[in-house]
Amino acid sequence: MKPFFNKTKVIATVGPAINTKEKLLEMVQAGTDVFRLNFSHGSHEEHKKVIQFIRELNKEHNLNICILQDLQGPKIRLGEVASDQEFLKPGKKVTITTQPVKSTAKKISTTYKAFINDVKPDDPILIDDGKIELKVLEVKDKEVVAEVIYGGQLKSKKGINLPSTNISSPSLTEKDTKDLMFGLEEEVDWIALSFVRSPIDVLLLKHIIKQQGKETKVIAKVEKPEAIEQIDAIIEASDAIMVARGDLGVEVKIEEVPLIQKLIAQKCRHAGKPVVVATQMLESMIDNPRPTRAETNDIANAVMDGADTLMLSGETAVGKYPIETVRTMNETIRIMEQKSESIYHKKEVLHRKSPTYYNDSIIAAACVLAQDTHAKGIVGMTQSGYTAFQVARFRPKANIFIFTANRKLLNRLSLVWGVRAFYYDKFTSTDDTFDEVLNLLQTKGHLNKGDICINLASMPIAKRQRTNTIKMSQI
Ligand code: PGA
Ligand code: MN
Repeated sequence: MKPFFNKTKVIATVGPAINTKEKLLEMVQAGTDVFRLNFSHGSHEEHKKVIQFIRELNKEHNLNICILQDLQGPKIRLGEVASDQEFLKPGKKVTITTQPVKSTAKKISTTYKAFINDVKPDDPILIDDGKIELKVLEVKDKEVVAEVIYGGQLKSKKGINLPSTNISSPSLTEKDTKDLMFGLEEEVDWIALSFVRSPIDVLLLKHIIKQQGKETKVIAKVEKPEAIEQIDAIIEASDAIMVARGDLGVEVKIEEVPLIQKLIAQKCRHAGKPVVVATQMLESMIDNPRPTRAETNDIANAVMDGADTLMLSGETAVGKYPIETVRTMNETIRIMEQKSESIYHKKEVLHRKSPTYYNDSIIAAACVLAQDTHAKGIVGMTQSGYTAFQVARFRPKANIFIFTANRKLLNRLSLVWGVRAFYYDKFTSTDDTFDEVLNLLQTKGHLNKGDICINLASMPIAKRQRTNTIKMSQI
């Protein structure tokens, strides 16, 4: 069904451009692994329809396409703008209110209720991706007066960033909580939390997920300066990280973003947690059928930085060329993975004190063995997914085949570098299992006669403990 398999995965954001079952299927055929439902837009009914389509496609075509719910978080926005003739001019004063009035060049309205309490004089206010910049002059009782530094046209519902302001709103807003309950009910595979500032934001979300009896995994979107300061603790608290370059690029100095991306990618791989690189990867393809040179370079560099997954936003949600965009992204990834050796065979320092030290060593050894023998595949068995995340961390060139009886994992692992998951529930004897899974992979065309394959398992197999066994076989 999927005509090719890259190691680096692709997330496409769903929107009006692709929200029919036919288009979603085309998107999968073009190389989409994960669909992101952006809860900054759309009603629950609309999202529910898309979720049903994806589930149907998974069933009908035997796919493991993953669904990522992206919670808006405390995103600050401009209200409705009175007309398309509202221009802010540099040097002019403008009032900001939280009253729901239509915004004009004299008075603009924001949806963020605590705006007046949070900002202080001299704070910058960035509107529409930083295209417009204001500076707070005075905080009054019910309004804020600001000066226009860089002007521009006001457009309804554009984002506002307050990079120097302490935002008092919790990371999980009232709207997010409602959306979260919907997502859990619908059994989405991953949940992304926007504007994470501290590990507590993530732990709180995880606590609610657990309370609801679910084990949905959480991606922390790093897009605030506070998150960079606590990045180690945030990685530890989360199951994956998104370098959300859109907001990050206005919240911190944009020139810092490339290094932040590299640093987070490295830290995430050390931690064995997937990292998603997001936003404007193929922005120009919203309007054009071909990418810019810079965009192609950006994708290639993200692959080399060690991203597990690359994300498309407006390009696939509202763009004119969603299919071409996914195809372009996959083609760039494919060539990088084929021609660059430096993305593979990463060494990791294992920590003797870690409770998983022995299992991690076995997995590391299997990856070295696979490299030495030019193995075609590494096969892991897992109930929790741990083995899959760990094997991926060493970036083996061999294919990563993961077998699990945990159905919920099948789609979830589609976000992880290199991993292909299969359902398997007969854990009788190790010998039988090894033979059976290898046969299965052969039948599906993933392995051929003469191929070397490294099997990982836990013995005795029926106990389903952590990985403790390596076996090498030639088909
Ligand atoms: P968003 O997140 O598209 O939900 O804003 C990604 C980003 O900010 O880069
Ligand atoms: Mn964002």
